[in-house]
Amino acid sequence: MRVSIGLAKDDAEKRLEEKGVSRRDFMKFCAAVATALGMGPGAAAEVAAALTAKKRPSVIYLHGAECTGCSEAVLRTYEPFIDALILDTISLDYHETIMAAAGEAAEKALNDAINSPDGFVLVHEGAIPTIGNGTWGMVGGHTMADNLKKCAAKAKAIIAMGTCATFGGVQAAKPNPTQAVSVSEFLGRKDVINIAGCPPNPINFVGAVVAFLKGDKIELDSLQRPKVFFGKLVHDLCERLPHFDKGEFAKSFDSPEAKKGWCLYELGCRGPETYNNCPKVLFNSTNWPVKAGHPCIGCSEPKFWDSMSPFYSAR
Ligand code: SF4
Ligand code: SF4
Repeated sequence: MRVSIGLAKDDAEKRLEEKGVSRRDFMKFCAAVATALGMGPGAAAEVAAALTAKKRPSVIYLHGAECTGCSEAVLRTYEPFIDALILDTISLDYHETIMAAAGEAAEKALNDAINSPDGFVLVHEGAIPTIGNGTWGMVGGHTMADNLKKCAAKAKAIIAMGTCATFGGVQAAKPNPTQAVSVSEFLGRKDVINIAGCPPNPINFVGAVVAFLKGDKIELDSLQRPKVFFGKLVHDLCERLPHFDKGEFAKSFDSPEAKKGWCLYELGCRGPETYNNCPKVLFNSTNWPVKAGHPCIGCSEPKFWDSMSPFYSAR
């Protein structure tokens, strides 16, 4: 794992190089972020400048009730080593699952970051259990609810990372035993930036951070998702769309039609109801579920565990 916590103050590019991430890889990554932001690959230098600026706020990354899959999506990526690129360039100063510090040292890291004169961006992964005054979700002796409240009060911006944070996710699915709610619902704030997805694409996460660093206004949809990432239906961006239009539907996952790239609608695909940029941005710059032969299950929409399931029912 190519991660270092709390080191990313200056000389980010130099440190990346020491870790084997070349300037070329870094610029390739920045071009992908620029494209996702609708700036075009030519704006890679602008993205790189924002990510490596000397005075940039640190990032506090909190965990609520979730599976840590959103962090995994970042950490398990390769080429161009997105984990190192993201986590070392954005100055990640607190992340409960990957930081080396524990106990009081971890608490100190959190308090130092909260009181940093340059401020911080708060990223929250996971839903907030509210039952029993939040005591069904504790970290370091504090409720997840209190940790979020404490950090949100001082954060320069709040990013809800993944569908548990944006809409409650699987925790909030019926019967929602912990009475879990999303970050924006818990805080009662309309300015939380929702990077939905189960998991969300790391490029969308970095894109939101870059837009914030550049001082660009992030236009949100009615569900507080950045329009630049979530403005179009998966269906409208899908390479199988010409087959949908011609009524060419695969009838089983192992059929020759599925392998030929025919539409997966009759196998349960939720692309026509789901807003996300997966077909355009891809995961790992490599592939996305529908191209790999799996229907979209609607993971970036509210209550998808209840409203989009069962995921494998044929139409
Ligand atoms: S596979 Fe899904 S997203 Fe793609 S065209 Fe068919 S229904 Fe739409
Ligand atoms: S294809 Fe659909 S289910 Fe898969 S990651 Fe994209 S939005 Fe989520």
